[in-house]
Amino acid sequence: MSFLRAARLASVAQTAARRHLPSTRSYSSALSAFSVPSPVENPTSLRSFTEEELMLQETVARFAREVVQPKVREMDENELMDKSIINAMFENGLMGLETEADFGGAECSFTAAILAVEELAKIDPSISALCDIHNTLTNTVIRKWGSKELKEKYLTRLATDTVGSFCISEAGAGSDAFALQTRAEDKGDHYVLNGGKMWISNSGEADIFVVFANADPSKGYKGISAFIVEKEWGVEIAKKEKKLGIRSSSTCVLNFDDVKVPKENVLGKIGDGYKYAIDSLNEGRIGIAAQMIGAAQGAYDIALPYLFERKQFGKPIGSYQAMQHQFAQVACEIEAAKLMTYNAARLKEEGKPFVMEAAMAKFVAAKVAERATSYAVEWMGGNGFVRETGVEKFYRDAKIGSIYEGTNNMQLETISKIISNKYK
Ligand SMILES: Cc1cc2nc3c(=O)[nH]c(=O)nc-3n(C[C@H](O)[C@H](O)[C@H](O)COP(=O)(O)OP(=O)(O)OC[C@H]3O[C@@H](n4cnc5c(N)ncnc54)[C@H](O)[C@@H]3O)c2cc1C
Repeated sequence: MSFLRAARLASVAQTAARRHLPSTRSYSSALSAFSVPSPVENPTSLRSFTEEELMLQETVARFAREVVQPKVREMDENELMDKSIINAMFENGLMGLETEADFGGAECSFTAAILAVEELAKIDPSISALCDIHNTLTNTVIRKWGSKELKEKYLTRLATDTVGSFCISEAGAGSDAFALQTRAEDKGDHYVLNGGKMWISNSGEADIFVVFANADPSKGYKGISAFIVEKEWGVEIAKKEKKLGIRSSSTCVLNFDDVKVPKENVLGKIGDGYKYAIDSLNEGRIGIAAQMIGAAQGAYDIALPYLFERKQFGKPIGSYQAMQHQFAQVACEIEAAKLMTYNAARLKEEGKPFVMEAAMAKFVAAKVAERATSYAVEWMGGNGFVRETGVEKFYRDAKIGSIYEGTNNMQLETISKIISNKYK
């Protein structure tokens, strides 16, 4: 142990004793709930990225500006994603970010994928949702638990030309996701799926669905299993939702009426689906945090130049201290949310515990996105409120961050459970 570390521990113990805090042992174990420090040779800032990550970030930013931006307003108004943009996402490798090159993917790091989601959200949180859910949930669950044959068959398509959906939620199973009622009945060489799903992103465009269904309700959530289902086997898109925000990202109700799924399309092991769902959503949350910091930054980048162009009382509105303090504070909040998101991504990548940090990042990023986009509208006055300037769209789009992949309350549940276990 270094002298510095020993001295710091002694000082913590003394301070604890003076304040009648818990003993050094329980104090330090409580501290460890917040991170798992480990020594590194050359510590770097949380904004340190590899050359590959920076290259991807720059390429996606250019793609978002040049290819996505011209269509954003039209897609939002029509509540429909432009097919040419989906095709361009495939052509540019954005639908198989972490997928191995053998299966047609770009084989990027998780952090690179997170940066891509953020860059897309700066221009359009809907396209960002398509990219995030397709990559961090659908592709990931197949990459992690699919057999070699399933990976060859489906990851290749998902990386090159076919949109995928990740289907857990149902009418009676939202926050309580494992209350799901969709059933998978064993028929010998295949399963038969019956039931319905709600709120399924990308399902308007998808042809491949990862569906969570219970194969043995007598075992409760331990009966939940994951299946790869092709649309042509009978997945019915029953209704497309009309939404407040991320309007061009499709969100649909699905029906499964005696849908036959071959046994080889079971993902991983029967009965382990709940583990795959938890695991995927834990890391998927970092993607939503990235979408939210992108949305916050996107709105900020529209509003700030306006503050220095628009004059009232003879001076730019951005020169008034009341405005300066607001945009400085929002900048602090966006920076904090970014660092939490990048940190959670790196922890996950390094194989360290990251669940609490991911929940914290998503919770904070969703709050920050709501505040930042709301301020951006306000700072631009009437021009913020109309559709033409594009800032009100970010305000609408930001709200989803506190709902999907676990509501804000559910993130706080996760965080408080982990903290309680350490302090109890
Ligand atoms: C646009 C959109 C896209 C989505 N995409 C997908 C997708 O691709 N795949 C998928 O499977 N699902 C998807 N979802 C579903 C999403 O994950 C759920 O909406 C979310 O988990 C919340 O569930 P719910 O809507 O049923 O709300 P509820 O669970 O009914 O929650 C309503 C309110 O009650 C609170 N609440 C509930 N239980 C508790 C509790 N125990 N303690 C404190 N507060 C509580 C919640 O925090 C929330 O504020 C999507 C949803 C939307 C809106």
